Amino acid sequence: MINLSLLSLLLVLSSCGVAVRTTKDLDVNVVDISEGTPSPLMQEKIPKNCNFTKAFKTNIYYDYKHRAQKLSHLNSIIDSVYLGGEKEVFKSTIGFRYRSPLSIMGRMFKACGGHDYTKNKSYQSAAASALYSFSEIEKIKHLLPASISPVRLRVATTVRNIYETSEDGVLVREEKQLINNAFYNSKDKEIIFVPQGTPDYGFVPFSGIPMWEIPFVSAHEYGHHVFSHFMTNYLNDKLIKHKPRVCFDDHFEGGDQDRNVKFQDIMKSLNEGVADLFSRIVIDKKITMEGLTCLEDSRDVTSDTFANGESKILNKQSLSEFFSTRKIGQTDCLKSVNYQDPHTVGAVFANAFYKVLKEGKLDQKQMLSFLYEYLKDINSKYFQLKNLSLDKSLEDLFLMGFSKAEKAVGLSQREKCGIISQSYPSLHSYYSCKK
Ligand SMILES: [Zn+2]
Repeated sequence: MINLSLLSLLLVLSSCGVAVRTTKDLDVNVVDISEGTPSPLMQEKIPKNCNFTKAFKTNIYYDYKHRAQKLSHLNSIIDSVYLGGEKEVFKSTIGFRYRSPLSIMGRMFKACGGHDYTKNKSYQSAAASALYSFSEIEKIKHLLPASISPVRLRVATTVRNIYETSEDGVLVREEKQLINNAFYNSKDKEIIFVPQGTPDYGFVPFSGIPMWEIPFVSAHEYGHHVFSHFMTNYLNDKLIKHKPRVCFDDHFEGGDQDRNVKFQDIMKSLNEGVADLFSRIVIDKKITMEGLTCLEDSRDVTSDTFANGESKILNKQSLSEFFSTRKIGQTDCLKSVNYQDPHTVGAVFANAFYKVLKEGKLDQKQMLSFLYEYLKDINSKYFQLKNLSLDKSLEDLFLMGFSKAEKAVGLSQREKCGIISQSYPSLHSYYSCKK
């Protein structure tokens, strides 16, 4: 921690309202154990005689172990790939500090046909691995929303979390480097993989498998891109909402202060659940998450339980934890479930919807069109939903998806009640099932 001088503090105070960088467009995918020391990657020597239309070899986590995959070309859903580079994520309880946006793109990448990217731990092999997953999405391009824009991919980018807070009138600034993580930045339409590394606390997550080698992760991030494509009212609303509150950005995640759950937190959870569901629908079923601690079960929409064996359920207890103003600290996924993590409530939604879709044996196209129609519906009712009480908006968001899915499938009342009793017994309309 660095205590800045009083002079800096005065400069900071005088800059109130000038310009603010916030984290509102960033969606951090996996927040556990994600700050520490990055492991170095090498720059690979690429032969000069590349044939860009030829296949190259790359690593992905496939069916319980690494397997080299052959991939023949870059794809059209990704418009550019950058290696390394830098980005800052600014988190402040003060919120009015001026910072010019820092984002350095790094070196551009084009996969070399005929090259074996499985041999080295390099920036290039990381990018080639991530591209495999996007090539899986490319295969179903005709099922993606017609006008969806291409995304930029950034691999092994140095992302610094900068925390600022005021302690006894003194500005305290702390910088941490993000590792073992990936996120989607809706403002610049980019998917960023941060470097692998050793966490300050805890263990290396996901059994040490680099995030860019896990197809679920890439597809999940692309799922956020799909969510953003439809959820224009939500994205625009965030900008409007933040304008008058520019001096008190509330995205600070560290510290011990209490929580204040807002509609935005519910939308964050929904965003996570949609991204998990999208990922499961588009990625080949043979590609599993088995052996990937925490991701396995907890984030697999086909699993009814979290990694610690507890059911994915919204009942009195889990909801009171989600809405609680008392913050729960970091938890170990193998021991307990943290309902304050947006991925958790999202996982319950995704699991419940998937249960319905699976009952109807819907194909990939039907499942995706369910998802798109659901998102369009939420977007059109966004402002109504936002004005409801929090527990009512959570219920309505669930019901909108659940009803859409069960209508597409044609479930009986008994089947509907069965799934709701497993997933959301606190849902008010479920009480009619008990009569
Ligand atoms: Zn996510």
